[in-house]
Amino acid sequence: MSARAGIVITGTEVLAGRVRDRNGPWLADRLAELGIELAHITICADRREDLEAQLRFLADERVDLTITSGGLGPTADDLTAEVVARFQGRALYLDEELERRIAAIVEPLLKRWRGLDPEAIRTSTRKQATIPEGADVLGPAGTAPGLVVAPANGRDGPTTVVLPGPPGELHRLWPEAVETAAFGAATTGRSQFEHRMLRLMGIPESEIAETLRVGEERIDGLDALEVTTCLRRAELEVAVRYEPSAQAAWEGLLALVRERHGPQLFSDDGTSVDGQVAALLTDSSRTVAVAESCTGGEMAGRMSAPAGASAYFAGGVVAYANEAKARLLDVDPGLIERHGAVSPPVAGAMAEGVLARFGADAALAVTGVAGPGGGTEDKPVGYVCFAARLADGSELARDLVIPGERPDVRDRSTTLGLHILRRLLRGESADL
Ligand code: ATP
Ligand code: MG
Repeated sequence: MSARAGIVITGTEVLAGRVRDRNGPWLADRLAELGIELAHITICADRREDLEAQLRFLADERVDLTITSGGLGPTADDLTAEVVARFQGRALYLDEELERRIAAIVEPLLKRWRGLDPEAIRTSTRKQATIPEGADVLGPAGTAPGLVVAPANGRDGPTTVVLPGPPGELHRLWPEAVETAAFGAATTGRSQFEHRMLRLMGIPESEIAETLRVGEERIDGLDALEVTTCLRRAELEVAVRYEPSAQAAWEGLLALVRERHGPQLFSDDGTSVDGQVAALLTDSSRTVAVAESCTGGEMAGRMSAPAGASAYFAGGVVAYANEAKARLLDVDPGLIERHGAVSPPVAGAMAEGVLARFGADAALAVTGVAGPGGGTEDKPVGYVCFAARLADGSELARDLVIPGERPDVRDRSTTLGLHILRRLLRGESADL
């Protein structure tokens, strides 16, 4: 068994959806890296009894570790430290050394404001320095310290890691939390898991299901692997988790997937298509430019996201109007007239145009019908044309109907576009 954890996200604004939770997914990744199984993520408002109920629920579920996010500030609705202290059976006390450290952090911030009430500030600082007895103090990263709080002597139950809500502060305090003895005591003595990720393009989920059935007959100990598949952005992700003793079964499965789906398997080391395109461009010192219509800039967004993108991403043009395609990408208006704005020849001309405009080594163009109401019988909503082009004139093109709602079509189009460019950069054909 691996250690199990639960996460409680606090914040009325997160519960209401005004702020999207970024801490749960981030912590989920960190736990996976440590081989700690994540059992639950819950969200509750800034209310004492609700937070207490979440802690109770996770303790009843027998997790080894509970992580809270938020509610460590100086205001009245920041009550996490108090609730966790009571839950773990620990009294609160004012840590005077911590009070001095917080005061030293607050002081320069106060200089920016006039006429603040010093007494109110002292009260806030004291509140943030009031912590459970026996807790480890983390940071502070902002003004609020994080905490690691084990159950009081004679009690059992999960150890609680208390982290601030602002994502940057939470990120800074996490490594410190992991280093504490209390964190180690709660999560070690359990077996570690290996995590692997396979990514495939251009196969339905049913194909992998069939491969797993074949594997059951051919591979000894396949049932020791925990396999989950997920269709995401037109790619199929196969996540595999296993104890080190099942290494041979994993290797058997990897060989079987390679045998049956070799051309579709584009990643077996956790890399994404975005990262692979970035590496192909960087390694060959080539630059790329993009031209897009229906994806509204998302192609440029994906291209510019990897670290070091400034070395290879020359830039992009979002040309929605025909006039813009002609003026900015030098697409012949006659071509648009004859074939329509969403057509393979226009995609090709956009790629050629943007390549020349930016003087880039490679170009990717997308034009499509993103709807709603934009489709015709000939060219329905979701009909998208791609062209990737290199300065030496080599080109890969594809046109197809992508299912889904507008945001799905955009997401899948950018992903498909990146795959087409990846194939061209690797000197492969367009079949996906
Ligand atoms: P502060 O001292 O800033 O009040 P805190 O620990 O009390 O810190 P919260 O009051 O819960 O944290 O949240 C402060 C702000 O941090 C929120 O308004 C929100 O903008 C951001 N934040 C909090 N929780 C999350 C979350 N789960 N995901 C993304 N942002 C969050
Ligand atoms: Mg707060």
